[in-house]
Amino acid sequence: MNNNSEKSKILLIDDEPVIRETLCSILKDDGYFVATADTGAKAIALAEQGDFDVAIIDLKLPDAEGTFVLHNIKKTNPEICAIIITAYPTTESAIRAIQEEAYEYITKPFDIGHVKLVIKRGLEEKKLGFENKRLLNNLKKEKAKLETMLQIGHAMSSILNLDELTKFIVNEITVVLKAKICSLMLIDHEDETLVIKAAVGLDEAIIKTTRIKLGQSISGWVAQQGEPVLISNIEDDIQFGRANLPKYETKSLLCIPLKAKDNILGVINVADKTIPEQENIFTEEDMRFLAIICNYAAIALENALLYGEVRNLAITDGLTSLYNHRYFQTNINSELTRVLRYPRPLSLIMFDIDFFKTFNDTYGHPMGDLVLTEISKVIKKNVRKVDIACRYGGEEFAVILPETKIKEAILVAEKIRTTVEKLRFNTGRGNKKEKVTVSGGVAQFKSGMTKADFVRCADDSLYKAKSEGKNKICIYS
Ligand code: GH3
Ligand code: MG
Ligand code: MG
Repeated sequence: MNNNSEKSKILLIDDEPVIRETLCSILKDDGYFVATADTGAKAIALAEQGDFDVAIIDLKLPDAEGTFVLHNIKKTNPEICAIIITAYPTTESAIRAIQEEAYEYITKPFDIGHVKLVIKRGLEEKKLGFENKRLLNNLKKEKAKLETMLQIGHAMSSILNLDELTKFIVNEITVVLKAKICSLMLIDHEDETLVIKAAVGLDEAIIKTTRIKLGQSISGWVAQQGEPVLISNIEDDIQFGRANLPKYETKSLLCIPLKAKDNILGVINVADKTIPEQENIFTEEDMRFLAIICNYAAIALENALLYGEVRNLAITDGLTSLYNHRYFQTNINSELTRVLRYPRPLSLIMFDIDFFKTFNDTYGHPMGDLVLTEISKVIKKNVRKVDIACRYGGEEFAVILPETKIKEAILVAEKIRTTVEKLRFNTGRGNKKEKVTVSGGVAQFKSGMTKADFVRCADDSLYKAKSEGKNKICIYS
């Protein structure tokens, strides 16, 4: 449709030259653009080329009925406001005109003032129709957005696992905002920096190594101020202007804080919008939309973080941060279930600190605690991620090693034993640095064993190491 600044376009179809010429010049004087045709075929061809707002069609044309011409014009100009004029009005032709959705049916001779009025009214109604359609479309879009928002909000509230939740959030945002890049950063309060928890469209290396100090760069500023930032072009931005980074294809960015009540948890960054009609630039509307999602996301994240903390408290040992005895029991059960179903090697190491009672008695309990934490660190450093290192009891440790044969488990145990042996503790008694040692017992699961048999096997191996002089790793058969 023609917009307001352009002239409305009228297609005038009549085989009577007088009518055509008079009407044409009057309408042109009134500011309309007018094209004329004296046959139906010419009129249809003209309509195919131009986007007409109004058609004035004589009912009797040399080559066709006016209603037939209207029918064909509507194929290319469906929104056209058609006025049929005729010197031979009949009920049938009037009905046809209505069937072809003509706007008005005028009989000749007509009053030019009346025709002008009909055109004006027709154009206004057409404009209103468009406006209504536009509003309806907007409403539909808003409705779709609200529905998406509710869906995301609902889904988020049911995810308690932090990794799963953050991945879900960044994925949904890239889809909803049609962006290629999205990252969710959380504040690490230990050193007041932002780290990437989940991202779409960024290299693993960037995800792992990016650390942004609070207050620095865009994300750091947003995380500190708690205010969103919408940048249309990073190179011209007054506050953050700088060269576009190689990782971004476009220059528009959006960064929104993740705020749960007054607690800022981090930020969400979005980049590389892919809507060419908007020149790939984020809009105020995008920002508002994202802000609402971020409100939901922040609450869900806070819940997940709290859940994670509580869960961690429940499964880890407070002094050493290793898993606790209860966690050991649950995990050895599930590992055994697994190897019974898919026979794979599974090993277990038990450690016990040598002469620890004497050490405690000599240097005090706090010094003993330090020994426990340092040995725990050695154990953690020397096992894989899949291994489960636990504080089994007071000064006893257990490591479950899935997919591991006894030979490899012995190597791990030996490595830990020799590393512990090298530790030196400043006991505060003069310059004397004390060393400690551990003994270890290793066992591999064999079919037919019960859980108790398996644990006893490792424990008996440990007992053997003790009885053979300590600071030793043994197996028992
Ligand atoms: P062995 O070489 O045969 O293992 O002798 P041990 O002295 O190490 O063994 P024993 O079982 O007699 O003593 C274990 C000691 O571990 C007793 C206890 O004071 C100490 N212990 C257990 N839990 C803790 C703890 O949380 N902190 C400290 N500091 N000591 C602990
Ligand atoms: Mg003991
Ligand atoms: Mg001991």
